[in-house]
Amino acid sequence: MSDRHYDYDCVFVGGGLSNSLLAYWIRQRYPKLKILILEQGEKLGGNHTWSFHEGDLTQEEFQLVEPFISKRWEGYSVAFPKHSRRMDSSYYSIKSERLHERVLEQVETLLETQVTGVAPFNITGKNGQQWAAKCVFDGRGFPVFNPEMVAFQKFVGLDLELIDPHGLTEPILMDATCPQLNSFRFFYCLPWDEKRLLVEDTRYSDTGEVDSESFGAEIKSFCEKKGWKIARILREEVGSLPIPLRAKYLLGDKGQPEGWMARLVPCLGVRGGFFHSTTGYSLPDTVRAISRILLVKTEYQSVYPIVVTLSKQVAKRQWFFRFLNRLLFQGCEANCRYRILEFFYRMPKGLIRRFYAGKLWPTDYIRIFLGAPPIKIRDAFRCLFHNRQRFQQEKVNA
Ligand SMILES: Cc1cc2nc3c(=O)[nH]c(=O)nc-3n(C[C@H](O)[C@H](O)[C@H](O)COP(=O)(O)OP(=O)(O)OC[C@H]3O[C@@H](n4cnc5c(N)ncnc54)[C@H](O)[C@@H]3O)c2cc1C
Repeated sequence: MSDRHYDYDCVFVGGGLSNSLLAYWIRQRYPKLKILILEQGEKLGGNHTWSFHEGDLTQEEFQLVEPFISKRWEGYSVAFPKHSRRMDSSYYSIKSERLHERVLEQVETLLETQVTGVAPFNITGKNGQQWAAKCVFDGRGFPVFNPEMVAFQKFVGLDLELIDPHGLTEPILMDATCPQLNSFRFFYCLPWDEKRLLVEDTRYSDTGEVDSESFGAEIKSFCEKKGWKIARILREEVGSLPIPLRAKYLLGDKGQPEGWMARLVPCLGVRGGFFHSTTGYSLPDTVRAISRILLVKTEYQSVYPIVVTLSKQVAKRQWFFRFLNRLLFQGCEANCRYRILEFFYRMPKGLIRRFYAGKLWPTDYIRIFLGAPPIKIRDAFRCLFHNRQRFQQEKVNA
């Protein structure tokens, strides 16, 4: 292997959130390494706004995203039919434009380059190009998932410029006082400045299709009710994220997120399972993984085992969130799903922080259930056992 010629030290397949961040920091920490990002789209990071909570990251991890932050707010609010609350906990957003600009000026990148083959030391492009690298990172987004084992968080967001000031000083993380339309539905608002804001219609739904037009119309009528007159739509963001209900939510590879390990290429971001099963947020788990990868030597032999270990740790921590997902999607009627979140937002601030960070304590599990969630005990047990039986069955079949 040592006689082999390598074009690069590291090649990053997919220039999304995870690979762009890691490539940027490898460039900063190890300027002599030759690195390359291959991205099929026109821009790194696509067209996204990524947000996260203060408590999601340690100080060290926070430093890895600090250069990319577009906005910070000191608190946020939530509103449900019978409960609303302000949380005095900072909330941050990163805009993909900023990620694109900063990473592009630092890291050699080939845009509009689709990759068709990824192996531990080789990459093949759509047009037959080949790249050899000492270490390859696969960050191509979600692999194919099993539609029977996931539900969806789908949304359309419009970045708007209003005619008059909107009056918001902090984000509304969930305004679920709207018709639920057979889902857990809420509006999400991020005020960028006094006249500009992102308004998103988000739905936790059994189906993944997004009708952008009807979502857009709903956003406009939400704005009307708020008395916000739209001057211009600046940008549209559409998403449909799988919300895993069971551990084996992927197709192929025996249906496990760990399946990618069999292909021996380190997978980052959502592809490697680095995301919160209930919120769909990947930034915190991804940044945690990046902070650990940066501590080891940037070569395959060191990187691969650490990524595998971290991915397994994240997968292990997610069992409770998948159970919560089953409660949400299978334990109650679709239009009543919001009650679980309404109940959750009556919990202590520390527990809410740990929930978003994906780091609940065992006592938090007990607290959540002793707090009597608005769900029948029988249904809660059905959600728990249904999974166990299926899991046993899948084990027998494997
Ligand atoms: C609209 C939206 C909003 C979100 N908001 C948040 C949020 O606020 N906070 C949060 O933590 N998470 C959020 N998420 C979830 C998650 O963080 C994002 O999906 C995040 O972008 C995942 O990062 P990633 O690097 O794993 O994949 P991506 O960012 O999806 O990057 C994958 C990249 O690989 C490229 N690619 C794919 N296949 C190929 C190929 N064959 N060849 C070359 N390139 C390829 C894609 O074009 C893409 O750029 C959001 C998701 C969506 C869809």
